[in-house]
Amino acid sequence: MSLKYCQGPSCHQYATKDRLRGNKENKTFQTRRRSSFYYGGSNFCSLNCQNDWFNDFGNKAIDHFGRLEEPKHLTEENAWVKDYDYRGGMNDRSFYYLNKITKEQRPLTEEQYRDDNYTLNIS
Ligand SMILES: [Zn+2]
Repeated sequence: MSLKYCQGPSCHQYATKDRLRGNKENKTFQTRRRSSFYYGGSNFCSLNCQNDWFNDFGNKAIDHFGRLEEPKHLTEENAWVKDYDYRGGMNDRSFYYLNKITKEQRPLTEEQYRDDNYTLNIS
């Protein structure tokens, strides 16, 4: 199990007991290190650290990956979402695609429902 550091630029400045590390005479508050984190795609130990990162780098990241300059549109072509109903109980579900614009439903197998790469969206 490999450990990784929280990417929060100020993580070490939140002076909590669990961040105090080192030998007796030389303890410092340090960036948290874990096998996994709950925030920001497992990169941040807390929402504070995630927000700190975004405040420092968010604009650069958005400019780098493409800033949205006009609205996206939900159309018939990209309005398909996966959904399910309970037919008779917890273990009896029917899976389907639902078009959020036209309300059309198309049946899905459970495998198709769970397959993140299986999609009806055209754009
Ligand atoms: Zn952190």
